[in-house]
Amino acid sequence: LYNMVQDLKGNIRVYCRIRPSFSSESKNVIKFIGEDGSVVILDPAKPQKDGRKDFQFNRVFGPTSSQDEVFKDTQPLIRSVMDGYNVCIFAYGQTGSGKTHTMSGPSGGSTRDMGINYLALNDLFQICPTDNGLSIPDATMHSVNSTTDVLNLMKFGEMNRMVSSTAINNRSSRSHSVLTIHVHGKDTSGGTLRSCLHLVDLAGSERVDKSEVTGDRLKEAQYINKSLSCLGDVITALAQKNSHIPYRNSKLTLLLQGALGGHAKTLMLAHVSPEEDSFNETISTLKFAQRVSTV
Ligand code: ADP
Ligand code: MG
Repeated sequence: LYNMVQDLKGNIRVYCRIRPSFSSESKNVIKFIGEDGSVVILDPAKPQKDGRKDFQFNRVFGPTSSQDEVFKDTQPLIRSVMDGYNVCIFAYGQTGSGKTHTMSGPSGGSTRDMGINYLALNDLFQICPTDNGLSIPDATMHSVNSTTDVLNLMKFGEMNRMVSSTAINNRSSRSHSVLTIHVHGKDTSGGTLRSCLHLVDLAGSERVDKSEVTGDRLKEAQYINKSLSCLGDVITALAQKNSHIPYRNSKLTLLLQGALGGHAKTLMLAHVSPEEDSFNETISTLKFAQRVSTV
């Protein structure tokens, strides 16, 4: 049933989430958010009519949307992993736009407002038996029996994650973080079922020059931008049902190859900041998201 609902919606979906503004001085460039998934942005440098840019997504979450609201819209997709479907959820956007907030939760390790990673696992544990139910592979394999086990494991992973400070934001994560949940089970006719759910918090999509980086950091930034554009190419090729899908152009797409093609379901969560000074990055995020969207 989860899947029937999903099939009606198609296998590639793109949502947009706009985080609240943190600055009282900076103008808000996002002028309209529609229930139908439309977003209107105004270029602060141009007169109203010339500066208007329209985008259309499957759904848009405004600054007041709660974690639960976002989760509720992804829940059927997440549950389809129990029907044997591979599912990938990507958080995309510039540093500071709210990717980690959506996937993990608020900064500072608060256990309120937990994100999709936690809510998804909690949900899966509630609808399937946990004894030999779920396990999380890592460099090492960890068996988990509860959401708390998974949370501790995720904290451990977060500590191992490479974080380097940049001019934009010293919490900037210059790495992709992938949480993969493998589901092994038996279907009603006794056949085996294997599927996985990938929850991906991507590295910041901002362009290189803005971070004023050099040397190794510059190489790293170029590498990140390449992997993000490869991801876009792969999703676009899948959406257009091309015969050649360029998985081999980046490690990220190679790693997720099995979970991106065929009957897999993909959700891109494009994150944007509402402030005027993020205008250029917001436009480039929305263009990227629009490109991989099939609406
Ligand atoms: P990113 O992972 O894209 O770099 P973060 O998730 O770290 O961005 O968000 C930057 C800051 O904004 C964090 O302090 C985060 O808690 C806060 N934030 C992001 N999105 C929201 C939101 N929807 N509601 C409240 N705070 C948010
Ligand atoms: Mg982050």
